[in-house]
Amino acid sequence: MTGMVNNEGGVWVKTIGVLTSGGDAPGMNAAIRAVVRSGIYNKLKIMGIKQGYKGLIEGNIEEMNLSSVADIIHRGGTILRTARSEEFMTEAGRKKALNVLKIFGIDGVIVIGGDGSFRGAEKLSEDGIMTIGIPGTIDNDLGYTDYSIGFDTTVNTVLDAISKIRDTTTSHGRANIIEVMGRHCGDIALYAGLGGGAESIIVPEEEFNVDDVCRKLIQGRNRGKLHSIILLAENIINAYNLSEEIEEKTDIATRVTILGHIQRGGSPSAFDRILASRMGARAVELLLQGKSSRVVGVKGNEINDMPISQALSETKDFNKNMYELTKILSI
Ligand code: ADP
Repeated sequence: MTGMVNNEGGVWVKTIGVLTSGGDAPGMNAAIRAVVRSGIYNKLKIMGIKQGYKGLIEGNIEEMNLSSVADIIHRGGTILRTARSEEFMTEAGRKKALNVLKIFGIDGVIVIGGDGSFRGAEKLSEDGIMTIGIPGTIDNDLGYTDYSIGFDTTVNTVLDAISKIRDTTTSHGRANIIEVMGRHCGDIALYAGLGGGAESIIVPEEEFNVDDVCRKLIQGRNRGKLHSIILLAENIINAYNLSEEIEEKTDIATRVTILGHIQRGGSPSAFDRILASRMGARAVELLLQGKSSRVVGVKGNEINDMPISQALSETKDFNKNMYELTKILSI
């Protein structure tokens, strides 16, 4: 750990860097803003590291001030941009990064990203740099925290799409398969499915059977239902093949909508802005207390923190109760 010991037994950090890494998520800007503003409030110098670990290796770093983060709380994406860096996965790459941190006098780094980015932060902390991770990923695939920044906004984006698709689906009496993101974690499909009243939800955590989906569609049609929404998490089955199979088996016209990257964009929801603001401030607080190699999370609306290693070892539990509820409510 670098820095001098202060009166309270913490470490006297003077300069901290902040970066966003891996997949972008709405609300990352609100987290950057919170880090910069609460850092400056606490008399720290804040350096913005552009394009994640790639920019760190390249020294793509600029000091940030209060106005660097003006007018960004409501913007999607990340003003610091993001990247993936193969080089940072190597010891030689990290050596370059350490050298850059030394040149810029950076004692601590706040990393906003997903599990891969946290692994990178853990490596940096092993090399003596204080690091804190903030969860920013739309998939909500981190087991240690109830929510990660960006997830709520994405669910809202999907809900908006479901409502629009439902209008046209109803007019024609069709079924519609909506493919959403979340290749290892079905939370986007699950939450949007429950909130959007989907008839069937297909997620990686639960076995799925086309005949069950068809049965539901036929049941619905027999009781006069005019529309059906099937929410499908990506990478489980080709949506167009599924649609053909459903049409063959039910004779119900079935259309496909793949939402794709619109799920990453947009102005962050109130929930994500508030979560990001609280987490950003906590990350700075932890560095001021001399804590390192930890991540910030949220459990039951309380912001907490724990070692990165512990956070990464926690497996994500799929919310089976919620999944069962979607079935009951779509009978
Ligand atoms: P996310 O953070 O969204 O999970 P990635 O898994 O792509 O995204 O990770 C982002 C970046 O973090 C990678 O491009 C790499 O630079 C760094 N990283 C990931 N895993 C490791 C690791 N085991 N050691 C060092 N750096 C890593």
